[in-house]
Amino acid sequence: MLPPQPMPDYFAEDALLPEGWARGVRIGVSKGGVIDSVAADQSPDGAARLSGPVIPGMIDVHSHAFQRAMAGLAERASSGGGTFWSWREVMYGFAARITPDDLHAIAAQLFVELLRHGYTSVGEFHYLHNQPGGAPYETRAEMSIQVIEAARHAGIAITHLPVVYAFGGFGEQTLDDVQARFRADPAHALGVAADLTARYRDDPRVMVGLAPHSLRAVNLSMLQEAVSGLAGLDAAAPLHIHIAEQAKEVDDCLAWSGRRPLEWLCENLPLDERWCLIHATHAREDELEGIAASGAAVGLCPTTEANLGDGLFGLAAFAAAKGRIAIGSDSNVSVSPIEELRWLEYGQRLHAQRRNVFTTADSPSTGASLWRAAAEGGARALAQPAGAIAAGKRADLVVLDANSPTLATKTGDQILDALIFSGNDNAVGRVMVAGKWIIEDGRHAEEERTAANFRKVLRKLAP
Ligand SMILES: [Zn+2]
Repeated sequence: MLPPQPMPDYFAEDALLPEGWARGVRIGVSKGGVIDSVAADQSPDGAARLSGPVIPGMIDVHSHAFQRAMAGLAERASSGGGTFWSWREVMYGFAARITPDDLHAIAAQLFVELLRHGYTSVGEFHYLHNQPGGAPYETRAEMSIQVIEAARHAGIAITHLPVVYAFGGFGEQTLDDVQARFRADPAHALGVAADLTARYRDDPRVMVGLAPHSLRAVNLSMLQEAVSGLAGLDAAAPLHIHIAEQAKEVDDCLAWSGRRPLEWLCENLPLDERWCLIHATHAREDELEGIAASGAAVGLCPTTEANLGDGLFGLAAFAAAKGRIAIGSDSNVSVSPIEELRWLEYGQRLHAQRRNVFTTADSPSTGASLWRAAAEGGARALAQPAGAIAAGKRADLVVLDANSPTLATKTGDQILDALIFSGNDNAVGRVMVAGKWIIEDGRHAEEERTAANFRKVLRKLAP
């Protein structure tokens, strides 16, 4: 018998490593899809040459996959112009009707699109637990399984976060009819998490965490039960929560508890590195410093936050406190990490009336600073061994299209500065997840079939 052939190394003229852009980079990838060596200033001899600049795949820490089906359908003014809360009514209309098969088709379409734009992991904040009307499915994790199977089929890594959702508003208000579909007490959500952990034990691309929906939807004892129950399942599993997204939410929390949402959370729970706080839009500087000191990440969703008129996150103060950021596609009005990062930076520039906000003396390139921070912060927030081109990380790589006019003549830091701030054509050429090419020449092998299934579901769900 012949000895097993070693996998050839990959060779990139330019690659974004944790310390910055490097030239002549050889990347060794094991048969299991893990990076086992990275070295710069090497020769390409005997390696498989990658045809453009290589960056780590981006992490999408916050998605509600089913909402991709309603993107674009809540952009008409109602009386008063429309608010987050009127948008939520449209969303509830969709959420009430989606079947398990519908969810699979919508999620598959979303995940193909995310991959085509350079995301390689997604965090699904999943609250569509029950049948319409509120009865649980016979298999309690039915809807979760549909999302995870769609991710596995599309080839994107996923951290699935079953949501704890028990109340319709601050002070333990009763759920309304549509929200009954979301109902999950900590025992139910932990049961789903345990089922999924067992079911996907052998797929290293699938991770499981938990997500108390918001301070509106849980009480303190449920939060405590969720945290300790999840730690019993996996001590490092991630915890996500929506927090301080809307000014009304801050006012309601103050009226209920005398505390702002982030104040209440920090006073009542020991936050740590397992936590990812989604939005944290309405945060005072001392609250941002508290989050940064705890090691928790903030999951920013700039296109959704803009779409919903949420407000602007205090990025400059949070970055000054060395806080960890991540990005999410949330309502999935955008499937592009470039658009999220561009909006993130531009919002800050418009607010502060200055340029290049997300930079430091050590990392003066806004584009490279944003990409590295969001990829590394996102990977930790999803407990995915990814987010950087480094030995021991999963081989999740994005090869940019060297022929894209956006990237013509660009080297080093200019590559991501150009991609994020002037790229409007999709310049993602190839995408690898766990050592396997999922996107080639900008295309996914299943994209026609996936789009056809998605169209069918959209026709059925049309309002
Ligand atoms: Zn959300």
